[in-house]
Amino acid sequence: MIIPTEPIGSIPRSSKLLDAIKRYGNSHPSVEPLYEEAIRDTIEQFEATGSPVITDGEQRKYHNFATYCVEGLPNTVPDGFKLPFADGHARRLPRLTGGSFRFLMYGYDFLDRAMKYAHVPVKQAVISPSALSLMYPAENLPEYSREEFIEDLLREHEKEIRGCLAKGAHKVQIDFTEGRLAVKIDPSGVLLNSFIELNNLALSRFSEYERSYIGVHTCPGSDRDSTHSADVDYAELLPSLFELQVGHFYVALAGEPDRARVLKIIRRYLKPGQRIFIGVVSPIDPRVENPEEIRDRILEAARYIPVEHLGTTDDCGFSPFCDDTSTSREKAFAKIRSRVEGTLLAQKIINGK
Ligand SMILES: [Zn+2]
Repeated sequence: MIIPTEPIGSIPRSSKLLDAIKRYGNSHPSVEPLYEEAIRDTIEQFEATGSPVITDGEQRKYHNFATYCVEGLPNTVPDGFKLPFADGHARRLPRLTGGSFRFLMYGYDFLDRAMKYAHVPVKQAVISPSALSLMYPAENLPEYSREEFIEDLLREHEKEIRGCLAKGAHKVQIDFTEGRLAVKIDPSGVLLNSFIELNNLALSRFSEYERSYIGVHTCPGSDRDSTHSADVDYAELLPSLFELQVGHFYVALAGEPDRARVLKIIRRYLKPGQRIFIGVVSPIDPRVENPEEIRDRILEAARYIPVEHLGTTDDCGFSPFCDDTSTSREKAFAKIRSRVEGTLLAQKIINGK
């Protein structure tokens, strides 16, 4: 029995890369070789952790995990949806001012370069349609209806996922951090259900076979060691989450105060054919977890979830926002190494060795 283990996505950028971006902007020709160097170095260090699946650390997703695909779109302004974090800081999405909506960059654009350096499978994270739907303003745009926008959004998202699958991504992970936040914004559950519906509408464009390579990540947010929705009870989110038509779920768990309770909820709502990758290290916790405690977390989870439905992951990316340096690269890789070692320890015990 093998317990699969995968990262979420981002690795903190080096100060050299961040300084150059600050000085010259994201896409200046002099920054280009630094991105190349960052991707090569990240993949080398990632592979040295022993992680059987890696990412490019999202070194090229400048700005952040959510709007990398639309940064620079001329029909946007910066004062869109506000994402408030518990420590008082906030991030904002761009707001759409008119039609039409299209991506300027796709997740699959990053894969060629990553695969050039990688010796193990590479996964690719993409942003959910529901997150990008927040770019459309509350009042309808006169010349570009919400329906037209949703059609464009779904087309671009489908194109992005198909491109990642065609290039041989190990998995395509849809980042759905706004799921838990939706319950905070609207405790009635209406907003969350509209998100689930929209994402399922996108997923319905894929075959069951294709969906077996697609997963969804949920977390309470992770930026500058702070969260946006950790106070929302998982019981309000997970039953709806497992309605998403994908084969894999990457669920933050390490940072939860009562993990056994969450595992019970997962056991109750997880469907046949779904695999759940539980978070066993917490990127916002400054302490590096040791492999033995990770082993014990996995053995605890195995008491609730059949091992053939179980995998392990990190609670979130280590810097979903490009300029977040609250965690060092060294610490991120140390945590990943612990995840990999702890998963192997648990696997040995489960297999009776
Ligand atoms: Zn996350």
